[in-house]
Amino acid sequence: MAYVTGESGVPEGCFICAATVPGSSDSLVVERAELTVTLLNRFPYSSGHLMVAPRRHAADPRELSPEEGLAVLAATRRALDAITRKMAPGGFNVGFNLGSAAGASVDHLHLHVVPRWGSDTNFMPVLADVKVLPEHLEVTAARLREALATGAGDPWEITGAGGSGAADPVERV
Ligand SMILES: [Zn+2]
Repeated sequence: MAYVTGESGVPEGCFICAATVPGSSDSLVVERAELTVTLLNRFPYSSGHLMVAPRRHAADPRELSPEEGLAVLAATRRALDAITRKMAPGGFNVGFNLGSAAGASVDHLHLHVVPRWGSDTNFMPVLADVKVLPEHLEVTAARLREALATGAGDPWEITGAGGSGAADPVERV
């Protein structure tokens, strides 16, 4: 899919770019930081399935600056911590789908964080076009926002020349 860039410089029709701007997609957004946005997947494979993305519309991790790469991983750490405290999964699948052949549905890079439980139903979307949603998305979003707001913060700091202290200042949503 080709994106048309609007006057704002944000590709029109990209739901991840849209999520970087406060507004209509706020119900799924659990965190906005200076360089990243974290939002629930509208079609989750499990409860708490979320996506961590750089704010900038980049398609591939090789396009990220070192600061963006660190910010994406730092946001992923915060998300893992929040999900662990609120949902106590037994494990996670974390990964990128790069390119349509690999299942990417949008060319804005995002890291999937999929909580897993030992007896979960994650295989079902593969076997049938069925998604199991034990918890409403907005309930999950509220729980994770609360966990992120009360978390221990980001243990990573960028130090040295150019470092500003916090790796990626978080704006609570
Ligand atoms: Zn985008």
